[in-house]
Amino acid sequence: MRIFKFGGASVKNADAVRNVAQIINRHNNNNNLVVVISAMGKTTNLMETLVRAYFEKDEKTGDIFNQFKFFHTEICNELFEEDGIPNSVKSSFNELENKLIKTPSLDFNFEYDQVVSFGEMVSTRIVSEYLNSIQSKNLWVDIRTCLRTDDKFRDASVNWNLTEKLVQQYLNFESERLYITQGFIGATTSNLTTTLGREGSDFTAAILGNVLNAEDVSIWKDVPGVLNADPKKMENTVKIDELSYREAIEMAYSGAQVIHPKTMKPLHNKGIPLLVKSFVTPESKGSIIHSVDHKLQLQPVFIVKENQVLITISPKDFSFISIEDINNIIDLLHKNRIKINLIQQSAIDFNLVVDFPEVDLNEVLTHFVESYIAHYNTDLTLHTIRHFNEEVLQKMKKGNKIYLEQNSRRTARLLIKQ
Ligand code: ASP
Ligand code: MG
Repeated sequence: MRIFKFGGASVKNADAVRNVAQIINRHNNNNNLVVVISAMGKTTNLMETLVRAYFEKDEKTGDIFNQFKFFHTEICNELFEEDGIPNSVKSSFNELENKLIKTPSLDFNFEYDQVVSFGEMVSTRIVSEYLNSIQSKNLWVDIRTCLRTDDKFRDASVNWNLTEKLVQQYLNFESERLYITQGFIGATTSNLTTTLGREGSDFTAAILGNVLNAEDVSIWKDVPGVLNADPKKMENTVKIDELSYREAIEMAYSGAQVIHPKTMKPLHNKGIPLLVKSFVTPESKGSIIHSVDHKLQLQPVFIVKENQVLITISPKDFSFISIEDINNIIDLLHKNRIKINLIQQSAIDFNLVVDFPEVDLNEVLTHFVESYIAHYNTDLTLHTIRHFNEEVLQKMKKGNKIYLEQNSRRTARLLIKQ
């Protein structure tokens, strides 16, 4: 049994859906498959504007909903022609429309998950119905029946024991060979929809791979595999044919867009290989992430994380930064869902590199005014070079203002103005 995951770009229009169907069919001949699909194209971004408008009771809500409906209707018109829009898709539209006429609760994160999840609901309905229409028999599964989480909306944690039991019960392959289901979403035990964090579909695929003991998990992308840099940002990138879980997790964590950082652990724990393959050239080999010892010196890998903020916090009374200080600071950032990417400490300064937060940073930092001085700089980029050497490091530094540098045995990190 194998798991396939298709992201937004792979189902961004009718032709793309047809291509995905071909890939599924080719492999479903010889394998039982669970296919995890995320929202189509840039739908999740659109859903984020939709939920914001809904939450703020903005009159644009209706227009944004119509955009969502129109985008998927067009795709259905192409895929199903005279058969029209499948009823299952229509009922998802209706369900969302009904939700949007209700008064929102006061919890934005909760509303976010209830609304944004429709991107995945509709995309999987369309793909499943399309496969059925071309005689690829499949069962559409609402993953919320089995992927159970806590109620930290927008960043839910998986209830592994329950999920394992339910997934094995629902996705049992007794009378099916192909399941189509959603990435990114789950539900609490009381059936409230949750999400696992942006780009969470890779993680869903890994969770299912783990609990179903899959042979492997394949992530189908618009790049030929894992590259040593983002081809949109660097020329002459090369594909890495094989890499260890450890290497992959470091890359993903540093900001490589190719795989979600949470994906590796569930697979590593069971020794399940992760294949990164191209949906554009599905026959080509791609990259494999598995248990492998990198004996050879690896080539430098370049990873860029944009929109970073450098926060520097120092005690006013010139006392050294203590463990308690650090605890307080990190706790406050964590509570405000600010993600820390790098920490550096000197006697008096405590430096943190964080993702540009959704919350007002000035307001967060006012918590410190009594005992600390806090400064911050925005519009920074964190460059990570795995397996760096002096030559590539100097090249990267040249002509740039370096806000912070941190080098370890294998990894160099530079914070540079965007
Ligand atoms: N659709 C979600 C997102 O765009 C999840 C995913 O694609 O993995 O973040
Ligand atoms: Mg996506």
